[in-house]
Order: sequence, then structure tokens, then C-alpha cells
Amino acid sequence: MFYRIEKISEDTYRFNENGRANCYLIVGKEKALLIDGCWGIGDLKQTIREITDKPVIAVATHRHPDHTCGLRQLSEYYVSEKDNTKYNRRLENRLFGIAMALAEKQKIRSYHNQKPGLALRLNDGDIFNLGDRAIEAKAIPGHTAGSMMFLDHSKKLMFAGDDVNPKLWMQGNGATSLSEWKIGANLVLDYMKQGYTAWIGHLNGRQIPEQLVVIMDMVDEIIAKKKNGQLTKKDSPYRRQDALPEIRFNIENIY
Ligand SMILES: [Zn+2]
Repeated sequence: MFYRIEKISEDTYRFNENGRANCYLIVGKEKALLIDGCWGIGDLKQTIREITDKPVIAVATHRHPDHTCGLRQLSEYYVSEKDNTKYNRRLENRLFGIAMALAEKQKIRSYHNQKPGLALRLNDGDIFNLGDRAIEAKAIPGHTAGSMMFLDHSKKLMFAGDDVNPKLWMQGNGATSLSEWKIGANLVLDYMKQGYTAWIGHLNGRQIPEQLVVIMDMVDEIIAKKKNGQLTKKDSPYRRQDALPEIRFNIENIY
């Protein structure tokens, strides 16, 4: 099996796509929810079927190919309309997924050639009822304008995509300004303070409040530097000697 599976909570799994991305499977009494689909290098559908045979609803935290390409194996998925841009749609070209599969020395299979999954509209506050678990979508614009997190209130789990990653990419086409990002980051931090565990789209999947506070602090420094006229393009990626986080930004899109 191509995906490394980690059980992160009861009936809740992290699929790691050989270090490239994470997606998550939440299994309820009646249905399952797949949050993101990674690149789809391996047989994602079969991997899910090894865990559950329940109907699967697919959602995406944001519309970047390392999160949505794999969803072509599931025919349709919910994603914010704010990420429905020409730029993002172009990145969903199957050739990018195929290039990833080849980079991982995988044979090209029929699912690599499927059409992109149909994007259904996802709105702030939408709730996905899985029987005994209800998962709420909440908008956290930042890494992309349409970034969403998913909350499992019953188990205090939160799935935040790429919006609070230690390697925070805010330089891309479709990202918000850093000050807009702060609103969503504060919301994530509030839930962390209430005891929610945050799961993210890359690395080992975990994010902790202490690290998010450092990232937010660094973002404040970047904004202050820009206001003082001291920020240069060379400051991206922005780092601190003593900390892991790294923030890439677009100097024209700070506040
Ligand atoms: Zn992304």
C-alpha cells in the first residue's frame, strides 16, 4: 500500500503520501468523510476501502493539487468557491499528478488519468453528518482565499489544511494578505486553547499552539517591517534563528 496510515483518534486516520502530503479519513456510523486527497499517487480509493465500506463524502481544505489531485479517484468533492480560479484549475491537470507518480516510481494507473473530480460548493458553516459524528466547515482565508478547516466537536479535532503550517506559504497566487490570514489563525488558536488538536496537510500532521504563536508573532514582525518601509523581497522566506517556522510572502500582499 502506498499510503502510510496512522490512527490519530478513534475511527480517525491520517494518510501520509510518502512525506508529500497528508489527508484524513473520519469514519462515522453511517458515512465517512475524506478531508483532502493528496496527489493521488497511490490507490486512495482502495486504501479507504481497507478501512471502511461506508459511503464516502470528500472535502478539500483548499484547492491546491497536492490536496485535490487525489480526489479525482472519488468523482466529486466539496471545496470553497473562492478557490475556483483558473490558476487552481490548471494545477489540477492530471499531468502534474502523473509527474508526481513517476517521481515516486509508480506505474501509471487508470485513476491517474481520470478526469478531475467535480467541485461542489462548500460554504462556511456547512455541516457533514456522518451518523454519530458531525463535521463542521469553517472558513480560514489565508494560504488561499477559500481555505477551510473542518471541526469534529465531539472529539475536539480540527483539520486546518495548509493554513497554519510551520512552513507557511503565503506567496502564492490566490493567497490573502498576511493581516487577513491573522483572523483565521486566531480562530485556530482559539480552538486550540479550548483543547482541540490541530492536524495539518504536511509534515507529521501535527500543529501545536506554542508553534502557532511563534508563527503569528513572526507575521506581526513582517507586517511591522512593511509599515516601517524596512521589508525587502529578500526577507522571504522569513525565519528566526531559534525557530522552525518559515514564512514565504509576497511583498505586495502584506496588509
Ligand atoms: Zn496548499
